[in-house]
Amino acid sequence: MTPLSEAEIRKVFINCSQGEAKRLRIPSGLADTAWDSLDFLGWRDPGSPAAAYVVTEWRGALTGLVLRLGTDRRATGRQNMCALCGTVHSTTDVALMVAPRPGASGRNGNTVGTYLCTDLACSLYARRLKRPARVQPVETLSTEQRVARLQTNLDTFVRRVVGAVEPT
Ligand SMILES: [Zn+2]
Repeated sequence: MTPLSEAEIRKVFINCSQGEAKRLRIPSGLADTAWDSLDFLGWRDPGSPAAAYVVTEWRGALTGLVLRLGTDRRATGRQNMCALCGTVHSTTDVALMVAPRPGASGRNGNTVGTYLCTDLACSLYARRLKRPARVQPVETLSTEQRVARLQTNLDTFVRRVVGAVEPT
């Protein structure tokens, strides 16, 4: 990713109010972030454990998503694989995260959910820059292939949230 400033990040959220985008907690240490190793900037808010944020470049435009961690595990089953990077975790390190759809649809309660690494470090897992706690299933993909898979899955997730129609 291209390095971003706090002001830039606040401008790109597509599924929350401008007020929320102004108030949400931006991670400290942006200047020290290894942007080259990120397909998206993802972070949690320690003061608001249910909140998660993802900023990525989607189809040429910076796009930020506000997510909420789901709480009802009974209804959703027990997934332990991240849908973006494919890392297998213990169930406490994967969570159902739900993004409101942009605009009126989201305000009416329409959301898109997916299972993600709770630390949102998918980019680092895909590059083997961060090791998950659990031993991973044997996989023959190269780093480039894992990164490409993450990018494809991320593109699909953002598209589902945005509700974009694929060109035919
Ligand atoms: Zn992940």
